[in-house]
Amino acid sequence: MELDPADLTATELLECLDRGETTSLEIAEAALRAIEARDTTVGAFLTVDREAVLTQAAAIDAKRKRGEVLGRLRGLPVAIKDVLCTEGEPTTCASRMLKDFRPPFDATVVSRLKAADAVILGKTNMDEFAMGGSTENSAFRITRNPWDTSRVPGGSSGGSAACVAARMAPLSVGSDTGGSIRQPAGLCGVTGLKPTYGRVSRYGLVAFASSLDQIGPLARSAEDVALLLEVLAGHDPRDSTSINLPVPRYSESVRRPLDALRIGLVREHFGPGLDGEVEAAVREAVRVYQSLGAVIREISLPHSRYAVAVYYIIAPCEASSNLARYDGVHFGYRTDERAMAAELESERRRFVAAGEADALAELDNPLVRMYRRTRSEGFGPEVKRRIMLGTYALSAGYYDAYYLKALKVRRLIRQDYDDAFREVDLIAGPVAPTPAFKIGERIHDPLAMYLFDLYTVGANLAGIAGISIPCGFSSAGLPIGLQLQAPPFEEERLLRAAHMFQQATDWHRAKPPLAVSRSS
Ligand code: GLN
Repeated sequence: MELDPADLTATELLECLDRGETTSLEIAEAALRAIEARDTTVGAFLTVDREAVLTQAAAIDAKRKRGEVLGRLRGLPVAIKDVLCTEGEPTTCASRMLKDFRPPFDATVVSRLKAADAVILGKTNMDEFAMGGSTENSAFRITRNPWDTSRVPGGSSGGSAACVAARMAPLSVGSDTGGSIRQPAGLCGVTGLKPTYGRVSRYGLVAFASSLDQIGPLARSAEDVALLLEVLAGHDPRDSTSINLPVPRYSESVRRPLDALRIGLVREHFGPGLDGEVEAAVREAVRVYQSLGAVIREISLPHSRYAVAVYYIIAPCEASSNLARYDGVHFGYRTDERAMAAELESERRRFVAAGEADALAELDNPLVRMYRRTRSEGFGPEVKRRIMLGTYALSAGYYDAYYLKALKVRRLIRQDYDDAFREVDLIAGPVAPTPAFKIGERIHDPLAMYLFDLYTVGANLAGIAGISIPCGFSSAGLPIGLQLQAPPFEEERLLRAAHMFQQATDWHRAKPPLAVSRSS
């Protein structure tokens, strides 16, 4: 094949495969070549098992040759965020805590991908335990934005967004607790969808905040996202929050435009903090919809001003509880016990020599010390901050004032959306207040990082669906994302609307300079 397969979208690759113009092996080799050429710069992947990739691809080609019916992804490579369990393969959550963890099972989405004959390309970098919005919280490496390598790719699914943007994978999977699919998709110029809470099974997803976490697809177009969502979605008895509803044929319906679309613009989303270029691009995108027949209305989500505050109570509370399991006993990292014993002994001697009976009595027992050392060494600073915020907000005396109050406001936020969706079919707005920022610029300012999530956390708190689609570039050449939100289980509506936009615009086709191959 003359074109570099790495340049083609998933939909285009399937057409080539079906016409016999390429093979799964050729596609896998092209992806591996792209990773070799660009990932030293981008740093999207934590693991790529070359041999395993080639073996999987060859096996699918062999099935094809034998005339067997192939699954829906029939040989396409998919990159997986390292928060999802892959049997026998590293699953680190970008944390020292899980550095050597190889799960004995596949997450349901990974099983579904394998059953659809996808080739698992590798595991992508992320913020540690998905806490963050820049992928700078990874314990292992920095991921760079393919559009400007001095900038962050967003996060926490930064690796999954960057590898698609840099043409290293046509498809990737991420997770979104407060924006972690949509925000990096927006900052890297790709399409990413957060499904409704319950749409995709989370069995085998390492939990961050269980009432907010959702798994979803990233790709270069709405069509490709539809294809991947169709594979990922569906009921799973092993995740009691997954809903037992039929999965629409997203990959077919995505091509049907929507008539008489009513789009809401949230008054509160166009306030202070929103970058002028982002606002201009979003408003221009809304005009595109208008020219396609949509009616635009201004709406209000009155409680949206509390969304960040509510999110940063609820998410850390749930995180502090979910992360209690990393104690050095059940699994994961454990502190060096010899070093610990030596430390304990030298402290004991010191206190004995100094005659400090009180200090001696307060020396912690080896088990407590093991927990403390394990967790101090295993977790990075942001994860520790979340655990402290969460344990504080859940502790006696603060529980009602913080956690319970946050739950009540969360209900009001959901109510706002329910009211809004009686008047409009979709809500449109920015994904993030600015384009990608510089690496190192905000990482020491947690509040600035948290405020960056103001447009995305609402969908998680309300459990609704959202998508991010490229809608322009800043004057510095950085991608800008448009966010569309829809009522629960209306992913189809989101995808159809996104595809309409992508039929009328070319933003999603733009290619980062770094990915322009020598031959083209
Ligand atoms: N940036 C948000 C946070 O740090 C969202 C993360 C996510 O969606 N996983 O919590």
